Amino acid sequence: MRKPARHENRTPPGHRPTKITFGDMRMMGVRGVLIYCSDYRCSHSIALSADRWADEIRLSDIEPRFVCWKCGRHGADVRPDFNWNKPVVPAIGYR
Ligand SMILES: [Zn+2]
Repeated sequence: MRKPARHENRTPPGHRPTKITFGDMRMMGVRGVLIYCSDYRCSHSIALSADRWADEIRLSDIEPRFVCWKCGRHGADVRPDFNWNKPVVPAIGYR
């Protein structure tokens, strides 16, 4: 028995898994991302479908492209949304 040899995506406990790509994420069965405002005082977050991004794009690659609609801050934390199949609320603009 041989498993498909794709590069490792395991991250140490407590480490943010931002180096994974959308392809890696979809291999895990996750089809959405959570976008967190990078300003901890705001801490606004939304869920988005990841379908618009190509497999080779890393989650961290798109972080600088978000603007929080609530506080106007540029940049965000992007993480896999393991509850991706819940309703999506578009609240942060993507440029
Ligand atoms: Zn914000």
